[in-house]
Amino acid sequence: MTDGSIANGRPRFIVDHTAGKLARWLRMMGFDCLFFTGADDGDMVRRALAEDRVIVTRDTGVAKRRLATRGQVRVVLLHDERPERQMQQVNDALGLPSMVRPFTRCIECNTVLVPRTPEEVRDRIPPYVYRTQTRYVECAGCGRIYWQGTHWEAMMRRLATLNAVP
Ligand SMILES: [Zn+2]
Repeated sequence: MTDGSIANGRPRFIVDHTAGKLARWLRMMGFDCLFFTGADDGDMVRRALAEDRVIVTRDTGVAKRRLATRGQVRVVLLHDERPERQMQQVNDALGLPSMVRPFTRCIECNTVLVPRTPEEVRDRIPPYVYRTQTRYVECAGCGRIYWQGTHWEAMMRRLATLNAVP
């Protein structure tokens, strides 16, 4: 196995349909995570190699591909279908907790989020949110706006149960 994907900083990921929920969790934690939708496993492995991404999958066939067995592409082969257990396994394999950056990346489209002032987003959020929240981020890709109150706290609670937050 190679640790090339980690040596340069934060690991980047590519997941397939066998770990779809996990992709959202990794993005919530601020990791660059592509969701591979193609039919050919080989395409995913080649893309992982080209973009220096760690593959996360439940598909044993992917882990048996030559680029993976030779260690040119790192694969985390998941053993459990529950997202919580999957997240724990990725944590154990890569040591993510110190690299978690909550809400820096869009959960829906993987684009980097940009901080916004309350005034900048005022006409695009519900009035009660404007009255109660002060921290906002916007996705430069899909325009989705996140604030700290809702998703944020729920996610931090779930991550805390995984010891994924430093
Ligand atoms: Zn987005």
